[in-house]
Order: sequence, then structure tokens, then C-alpha cells
Amino acid sequence: MLSLGIDIGATKVHGVALDEHDKVIAEHATFTQRGQSGVMTVLLDVATKVAEKAGVGLRDFDSVGIGIPGVVNRETGEIASAVNLSITHMPLLDMVSEHFSVPVRLDNDVKATVVAAGMLLDSLSVTYINFGTGVAAATLDGRLIRGRDNLAGEIGHVVLDPNGDPCRCGQRGCIETIVGGQYLAPRMDMLELDWTTLDKSETPLGKAAYDQSVRVMSRIVASVSLSYGSDYVVIGGGVIQAAPWILSAVQGFLIDRAKMATFPDYVDMAGRVVHLDNDIQAPAIGAALIGQGWTEGYKLHLG
Ligand SMILES: [Zn+2]
Repeated sequence: MLSLGIDIGATKVHGVALDEHDKVIAEHATFTQRGQSGVMTVLLDVATKVAEKAGVGLRDFDSVGIGIPGVVNRETGEIASAVNLSITHMPLLDMVSEHFSVPVRLDNDVKATVVAAGMLLDSLSVTYINFGTGVAAATLDGRLIRGRDNLAGEIGHVVLDPNGDPCRCGQRGCIETIVGGQYLAPRMDMLELDWTTLDKSETPLGKAAYDQSVRVMSRIVASVSLSYGSDYVVIGGGVIQAAPWILSAVQGFLIDRAKMATFPDYVDMAGRVVHLDNDIQAPAIGAALIGQGWTEGYKLHLG
């Protein structure tokens, strides 16, 4: 049993091959190219490299799954919209199927990632919050919470500050404009700050940026914790991977706020927040699990 999983991110495309125990035996990643032909080129390149490293051909995989950001129609295999990949419509399954000998399954990238998080934490009560190019969450609560059009947890364009920076969606002060990588990275550059070591910054600008980032991320974690009540709230994605200080900073913020607010101890928001050691692999592992048919959560064949 050999599974292929490919995560198509806004920054990079990451592929893994899993053995029969769902362990990663081969992987490859490369930078994303945008648009339909760009996505297809990189997807097939990564799939081929993963197959080579696993010592097989593309047609030897027993299952294939793909995770992609945006609005995904799982029945037709079409991408209705993936703004961060410059795609307005793409019949992805039709385009990719001929290269494999098994049916390919497709899902939203964060939905796939929370399925992987559920396997890695051995839990069906998990929320995964992706702080990547954009920001989105997905929740397993006994089974995957999909919502209408598979869009449950797409929180990136919730407005936190109506007077904040303009967002590409037309609003101002969306969550993504504050802690999404595509806005955060240029802002750090403009302010000449280093996100990876922002906790060590001694300048007033650096301290203000640190305070704002930790406050906003913590509030997102708290809101999602209270909304779904998951046992685990996983924070991950490129913005988190680049900042090793963020997990303890968010936990510290939540502990301090709980004291101030005389919040009941049993809520224990800080204790539920975790970061996966192999967060970089999780979206591709999740895609492979979706490919295997775990479309509603690991070991849950419902969809
Ligand atoms: Zn927005």
C-alpha cells in the first residue's frame, strides 16, 4: 500500500509518499507556479520526484490525494476559486487523472491538514489554524466540520479592525491583513523587522509589532477554542514555522488573560494549544489520507 499526497500551497508544492503504516517514506517540495498551467507543471513535477524517491512510477500508487487552497468542489473535482494561486476556475481532476491508475481525491488544504493532525495526535477533537499566506481553520469534532460549500472555518476575511489596512477582498483590517503571511512579510520588511526573532526586538516598533501579532493570534485561538471546544487547537503554517517563539508567546498571553478575566480554569485554552513537530509535512500527509478515503477524519470513512 503506497499513498501519494500533494499539497498545493500558495508558496510551495509539497508531496509525500506514505507506506502502509502511513509513515512518510519519500518527499519533495518546490516553489509554486501560479495559474492553471503553472499549477499542473509543478504538481506533476513534484509527483514524479516523489515517485522516483519512493522507487516507483506514477501509476504504482494505490491512492492519490491533493490538497489545494480555495473553493474545491469534491464531487466534480473542480477548483471554483483559488485567489492565492491566481485561479478562478480549473477542472483539476480532469487534468490530473490520466497520469495515475487510481481515482484521485481532492480537498481543501486546511481540511486535509486537520485530518493529518487528527492522526498525528490520535484524536477526533482537533482544530487546526493555518497561519500561512492566508489564514483559515478547520475542525474535526467526531468528524470533519465542512459547512456549506466546504467553507466552514474560512476565517481569514473576518474583520478585526475596520480602520485597518486594506485587504485584497475589498474590506479593511481582515485577520489576513494582520497575521497572514502575504501581508505580514512585506510589513516586516517595510519596518525592517525580523519576524523570526521578533520576540528579541528591543525597538518600540518591534515591540509594538510583537504585541499586536501575539494579541491577534491569541484572540483567534481563543475565539476558535470557544467556538468549537476542541481538545487540541493546533497552530501551524509558514508564519508559525518561521517563528519558533510564537507558541509559548500565545500560551503566555492566554494564561495572563485567563487570570485577568477570572476565566474558569477548566477552559484551559493555553493548555490546548499545540504545534506539530512535523507541521511542514502535515498538509501533504493530510492530502494522502484524503486520497485513501479518510474524507471525514482519520479512520472515518463517511464521505
Ligand atoms: Zn479580506
